Amino acid sequence: MMAKASVKLTCTKCGAEFTAQKTCYNRTEADNWENYMSRVGGTCTDCWKVEKEAEKLAAREKQTAENASGAAQCPVTFPALEGSEKQIAWATDLRNGIITAMVNSKAQWDKIEELSANPEFKKEWDKLNITSAKWWIDNRFTKIFKFIIGEKY
Ligand SMILES: [Zn+2]
Repeated sequence: MMAKASVKLTCTKCGAEFTAQKTCYNRTEADNWENYMSRVGGTCTDCWKVEKEAEKLAAREKQTAENASGAAQCPVTFPALEGSEKQIAWATDLRNGIITAMVNSKAQWDKIEELSANPEFKKEWDKLNITSAKWWIDNRFTKIFKFIIGEKY
């Protein structure tokens, strides 16, 4: 029979009193969880949310930095993007991510012209010169550049 574990805790972050609850498979498991939680404590829902948001933001910033440093290794310069400041920042990050993937897949930058003889390659490659930040944002979930990234050039 399922058992409900419930334990009163003091938030380790803000000091607020809160009740932590969990549905367990049986009473023993529920008791163990209550004891465990009383021992280690926990954060209230509000503090947990703040913590998760901060983690998400940090992960995003880390990814943005990785995209930027990866793109910096690309010998080809792409045109500046156009749009609002916010759009440009986002779109630049998206484009950097794609360029980084190309850098990581060891794209042969000195052979782009040669490779462009292949219309399928050229079609994808030309997208990298699209300057509309909005286009990059609108297409962020589209599997573009698969042709370029998926192959070793
Ligand atoms: Zn709290």
